[in-house]
Amino acid sequence: MSKKISFYFMGIVVLLFAACSNSSTTQKQQEKSNTTILMPKKDSAKYTVAMVDNKKDPTCGMPVIAGIEDTVHYKKKVIGFCSKECKNDFMKNASKAFASIEWKNKTK
Ligand SMILES: [Zn+2]
Repeated sequence: MSKKISFYFMGIVVLLFAACSNSSTTQKQQEKSNTTILMPKKDSAKYTVAMVDNKKDPTCGMPVIAGIEDTVHYKKKVIGFCSKECKNDFMKNASKAFASIEWKNKTK
């Protein structure tokens, strides 16, 4: 009888230990995967918000912080776009669209 109890006890201890080490490993793995998710996003970004003068994509109104896929140099300004289509649309009517661009409130 006592042998059986100690057997169960051992089993519980082993289970607890396994659960503990398991959860700490998954936590570490999650931390690791979080950083790996963030890293390629930074690396793959061809253009950064700091490179452009506009605050929002003038064609679709999306903030440039959401991601810049293409840029255009126009009237000594660098304008960032979320996609090539947005850039193309802008270029079709550039002078008019340029006037409506929201610029960053940055004084150089
Ligand atoms: Zn866009």
